[in-house]
Amino acid sequence: QLSKRLEKVASYVRAGSSVADIGSDHAYLPVHLVSRGIARRAIAGEVNKGPLTTAIKQIKKNNLEAKIHAKLGNGLEVIEGEEVDTVTICGMGGPLISQILEEGKGELSNVSRLILQPNIAADHVRRFLLNNQWELKDESILKEDGHIYEILMAEKGKPLVAYSDDLEKELWLGPFLLKKKSPEFMEKWSKELEQLEIIYEKLNEAAPTEELMDKRESVKRKMDWLKEVLK
Ligand code: SAM
Repeated sequence: QLSKRLEKVASYVRAGSSVADIGSDHAYLPVHLVSRGIARRAIAGEVNKGPLTTAIKQIKKNNLEAKIHAKLGNGLEVIEGEEVDTVTICGMGGPLISQILEEGKGELSNVSRLILQPNIAADHVRRFLLNNQWELKDESILKEDGHIYEILMAEKGKPLVAYSDDLEKELWLGPFLLKKKSPEFMEKWSKELEQLEIIYEKLNEAAPTEELMDKRESVKRKMDWLKEVLK
């Protein structure tokens, strides 16, 4: 049984795709996609040998060796010379996902869809997309086992389409998620506002160096955004 989180990721994969799942670990996602006939074939990429071994076992257990290729390699280097149209990167922090994309940009020329699930700091991923001609097409947010997850889907195209003039705010909160304001979204950002209020109090108590003043300004701006959004 696939997690609700990976199930949502799978829902963004087009029928007949050739998928590379980067940081695949147990290869649950590629096994699901290929065994259900959603993906034609898949690569399970892993930088660490332990998880790669787990992936290989899982692929064998499902008799999918002919269609899923487990490969050891850093980030997108596993798609070099392969025919891949969709890349999934899930269960890592936003900074690591955007670093993997940045370092492997050259491998993305035949890729037409990215499905990305940052555990934290999705703004880093949105910023990468914006700066690299990837159009954010949809976003989802869901809660599973007490965690709230965001999933971003992008295609090659016009990077600014999803955003309004409030670019910084929307890069942080997600333009689609912000429009929808689902209960999960409201829960996530209410908690964030509480945290920011505590930080702001502490910054006000400290001696006002220039650096602290800048930090305070930035925290205040975010608090104002959230108060407006959560109204
Ligand atoms: N994608 C799966 C999921 O969402 O359930 C597994 C997520 S697991 C927390 C992260 C995996 O990414 C680990 O198995 C780790 O070895 C792998 N990883 C981290 N950095 C990587 C990189 N640069 N290239 C490939 N895999 C990486």
